[in-house]
Amino acid sequence: MNDILIKKTNTFFKETFGAEPQKIVLSPGRINIIGEHVDYNDGYVLPAAIDKIICFAFEKSNSNTSRIIAIDLDDEFEMDVTGSMELTDNVWTNYIRGVVNQLKINGFEFEGFNCVFSSNIPVGSGLSSSAALECGFLFGINELFNLNIKPIDIALMGQKAEHWVGINCGIMDQFSSVMGQENKVIKIDCRTLEYEYHDANFSDYSLILFDSNVKHSLFSSAYNTRREECEEGLSILKNNFPAVNSFRDCTESQVLSVKDKMSENVFKRSLFAVKEIKRVIQACEALDKGDIETLGRLMFETHEGLSADYEVSCAELDMIVDTLKKEEAVVGSRLMGGGFGGCTINLIKKGHEEAIKKKLSALYFDAFGIELKIYDVKIGNGTSLYKNN
Ligand code: ADP
Ligand code: MG
Repeated sequence: MNDILIKKTNTFFKETFGAEPQKIVLSPGRINIIGEHVDYNDGYVLPAAIDKIICFAFEKSNSNTSRIIAIDLDDEFEMDVTGSMELTDNVWTNYIRGVVNQLKINGFEFEGFNCVFSSNIPVGSGLSSSAALECGFLFGINELFNLNIKPIDIALMGQKAEHWVGINCGIMDQFSSVMGQENKVIKIDCRTLEYEYHDANFSDYSLILFDSNVKHSLFSSAYNTRREECEEGLSILKNNFPAVNSFRDCTESQVLSVKDKMSENVFKRSLFAVKEIKRVIQACEALDKGDIETLGRLMFETHEGLSADYEVSCAELDMIVDTLKKEEAVVGSRLMGGGFGGCTINLIKKGHEEAIKKKLSALYFDAFGIELKIYDVKIGNGTSLYKNN
């Protein structure tokens, strides 16, 4: 599938600019296996890059003027890279401007370029097409002008570009897009940004995303209240247990022992954070042993916690996970991302995928009158130059 995308992007470039591109860059979206709502709680996340990508083709324009074309949107814009960068109403262009702005802030010197890009990452489904866009574009400019920016700095500058656009995201998305490796997940310590790879060879299992195809508007207000509730919970824990600096230092029994000092919501959010951080560690241990069944069980537990204790699920996501839990061939399923809609991530025994897709789609449509969207994903490499380039 990526071959078709690369060919399409390359052909478009040649037809537009009359020459072969000087660089072709592939930049992936990402999944998160486990570790939800703990990035801002000093926890760990366990993401991986996927085999869905944005493909970029670049050349130097040998002037200050740059032309950037989003093939999928049939849209383009020009900019003068020597000018100052401003936000515009055309959102996708802001990600590009944000990256150029970052390069300028950090003192990198480069000239005009031409760039076309096209993608097979579903947009706005929680697979981080925005991080793929920022990081792939930045990677390409780095290669085109030999700027010698380290991969980790590409991720950090990509994150800052997204902040500039107005989304106050953590580092996970950009980090996974840039640093991903085939058949590996990355355990990122969100407190220190230390990271380690763990083998994730799901050879007997398929990773399938079932997209609820809904987005409930509760998301941003709930996100802010969850953060506040967690802060409150942590401060109560710190006051009672001097050795506690963050949720990762806590045991469940410590949270239980201060239950009467917390509101019910603060208690439930704190309990979730402590358990979820532990689950990421257990998930890594399970992966190291090749114990996918245990990993799957942890994913189900995460969903239960997100639904009952963290309260960021919704009827559609709960229906998907509850339905799949009854299927013997589904070893794990949970909502992925912030919640209130978007995707679930599912581990399904090979050979059973099609039957389960069919059954769930029909049940989902019966229940909600909404088409379930389905994406098959594999763990892939991070942002890279296309090999034949
Ligand atoms: P996601 O979960 O996919 O990252 P976001 O809302 O964060 O969702 O980012 C999606 C935005 O990224 C789109 O609205 C668009 O501005 C930009 N984008 C992503 N993919 C493309 C593409 N192929 N072409 C143009 N813009 C894109
Ligand atoms: Mg995004």
